[in-house]
This record gives sequence, C-alpha cells and structure tokens, in this order.
Amino acid sequence: MKVLLAFAALLVAVLAKETFDGFVQNREQNEGVQFIVSLLLPKTLCVETFMNKLDCLYGVCISLQLDFWKGVTEVATHVDVRVPFHSLQSTKTYLESQDIKYSIMIEDLQVMLDEEQEEMDSAARDAEPRNTDSFDFSRYHTLNEIYSFQDMLVAENPKMVSKIVIGRSYEGRPLNVLKFSTGGTNRPAIWIDTGIHSREWVTQASGTWFAKKIVTDYGSDPALTAILDTMDIFLEIVTNPDGYYYTHNTNRMWRKTRKPNSGSSCVGVDPNRNWDAGFGGAGASSNPCSETYHGPSAHSESEVKSIVDFVKSHGNLKAFLSIHSYSQMLLYPYGYTRTVAKDQAELHAVAEKAITDLASLYGTRYRYGSIITTIYQASGGTIDWTYNQGIKYSYTFELRDTGRYGFILPANQIIPTAKETWLALMVIMDHTYKNLY
Ligand SMILES: [Zn+2]
Repeated sequence: MKVLLAFAALLVAVLAKETFDGFVQNREQNEGVQFIVSLLLPKTLCVETFMNKLDCLYGVCISLQLDFWKGVTEVATHVDVRVPFHSLQSTKTYLESQDIKYSIMIEDLQVMLDEEQEEMDSAARDAEPRNTDSFDFSRYHTLNEIYSFQDMLVAENPKMVSKIVIGRSYEGRPLNVLKFSTGGTNRPAIWIDTGIHSREWVTQASGTWFAKKIVTDYGSDPALTAILDTMDIFLEIVTNPDGYYYTHNTNRMWRKTRKPNSGSSCVGVDPNRNWDAGFGGAGASSNPCSETYHGPSAHSESEVKSIVDFVKSHGNLKAFLSIHSYSQMLLYPYGYTRTVAKDQAELHAVAEKAITDLASLYGTRYRYGSIITTIYQASGGTIDWTYNQGIKYSYTFELRDTGRYGFILPANQIIPTAKETWLALMVIMDHTYKNLY
C-alpha cells in the first residue's frame, strides 16, 4: 500500500512537472495564462504542519499574486490556488522545496472563462424576459438582469413581495432586499443572503431561483405556506453589487468590495471578515492587497453596515443564512473562537438533517460543523456576528462544487444546485418556525 501511494505521488509529481515545464518553455505565448493548482494534503502530515508549510506561501502569495480559492481545512485533502503564469516557476520551486505535491486542477482558466462568457452572450441574444416565468434560471445573469428580475417579481406578486433598499454600495448601487410577507407587522423573520463574495456566481443565481420558488410554493407547499403565514423572509440576492458588476465587466475573479483603501493601490475589503465578531483576529489579513483583508474597522463597508443596521432595527430575526461557494459545507458558529456555541448540539442536529435532505436529491455530499473545526479559524465573519446578536439559527453554506470547476461552475449546474440547497434551507426554516424563541 505504501509503495502504491508513493508511486501515485510520484506519478502526480511527474505529470504536474511535465505540464509546468511545457508551459515554461513556451513563455511568450503563455504570458496571460492562469492555472488553478491543487496542492495535495500529504496523508503523513498533520494539518498544523501543512498549514505551517503553507504559511510561508501565504506570506509571499501577495508578491506572487497567488489567490487561494480554497484554503487549508480540517477535512479537505487539497488546497486550490490560482497561480498566474509569471509566478508559476517560483511557486513550483517553493512547493518542491517543501515537498508538497500538486496537480493541475484547471490548466488554463481563460479557456473556461471564455466558454462561460460565450454561453452568457448567446443567452443575451435571446429576447429579454418580460416576466419571471420566462426568466432563464439556467443561465448566469448580469446585475441589471437580476435587478429587473426583482422588479418583475414584485410587480407580479404585489401582495406578497416588496423591495426594500437597505442602503447603497460604495459605488452607489442600491442594496436591494426582497421581503416576502403575508401580513402582520414585524413578524419573526428569516434572512437569506447570496453573493457577498461576488465571484461566487452560483450563489446569486441560486438566490434568484429561491425568490421564484418562494412565490411558487406559497399556497401549494404546506411547510412553506405555514412558515410564511407566521414569519417573513428577507432575501438579499446581490449582497455585493459593486463586486458583482466588476466580475462581469473587468475581473471575473473579484471577491471583495470595491472601496479603495487609503495608502494602498489595492482595492476592496473582504466583506466576510469585516463584521464585529473577533474583528481583526486570526484568519483575516491586515494587508489591503489580501483577498481576506478585514478592512480599516469593523463594519467599514456599507454593504456590511447596511445589513447590521437592518438586523438591529428589525430586532426579530430568528434565522440568518449566508450563502457562499464553493466546497459543499454547512457551517455554524463560531469561526473566530474555539469557544463552543451554546446551541451547538441543536445547530449540529439541524445541520445534519439539512445536509441529509440536500443529498437526497442528487447525492451531493456536504460536510458540516462549526466553522473553526470544519474549515479554519476565520475572524470577523457574518454569522458569528449574527449569532452574537441572539439569532440562534445562524448558518453559512458553501455550495457546489468541491474543486472540479470551483468558482466557474457550469451554468447547467445552477438549477440542480439551487434545488438541492432549497431542501436544506427548508429544513432550517421549518425547524426555526417550529422552535420560535
Ligand atoms: Zn465566499
């Protein structure tokens, strides 16, 4: 077995080397190429040692312009990194010096981006949908298309759906939240947000599908009908509109907000490190050029502050579900501290049921647990803050996939992803409704 493993590792190394070397030899024609490299977590190393080895890589990642798509986690076997061509040789040298094996997950990112764009362009040639029934949920959509989808949904369902503008983004775009309500005032409520990290396109696409699903199922699905007869649902589909616009027009890989940082040429703050929950602690960067830059102060980003103000002024949110991609996980607090959440047992049991229902549709397997024990320490995260505000059912999702396509999930997976995720959301919403506090 040992020999077999060693041989497999050697094979991976040889294959990877050939690919790398092949590209290095053709330097001129490959200068814009970006690779996604998957680093294999050695079975013989504990996670801490592996993280220590990578720390150095993280340390130099800014100068090498490496972008960690998927960091070290307690449960995963690989770490995915985007490596621009000009950093390939240095990265390779470093990895080999540390005896870290790697394989190529995506050989030329641009090819996949071109395919994605081509598919969107061909969709755009079709007539603009005049109502939400003819909206194509199996495609990725621009910011304006999602905005007009929201307006159509409100116009078609004036009694149930309204649009609230909770604030403005840094660049002045409206932060739209759809409110689904069948009456009452300040009812206990469920919050769902998608797209706080702009490049996680399957989340905004799923959020759009959820919005339509809620109006379709009300009155026909007894569980959702019961929930909406007692509670309201708030859904923010494009939680980081500046970033989302930027992913469509300039850089598909943009994750952060678009606010300039004083004293730095690097733009943007990680809006999932910007909350006042262990703000600035381990698992967030103080470097404005980092993808996990926490920002100058807690709630410095208007995209975050607007939600903070909304949550506080509403005062009756009972569940808060913040949706990301990728890696197929359902997580609950905490991320910034090893302190066990006081509702851990219940949160864990509900998560287990949620991922079981999710898997029942297509067999998609999720991991679950607290953020710090399942992924890594991350400070200033959304659901740690909401949990500390007293919102017991605070969860974060990481949708498909686990690393075949990463953020460039093909559009034909949008509806299956949304459908299976909906089953998990229903478990959590139903449990919340039956256990109002
Ligand atoms: Zn994310």
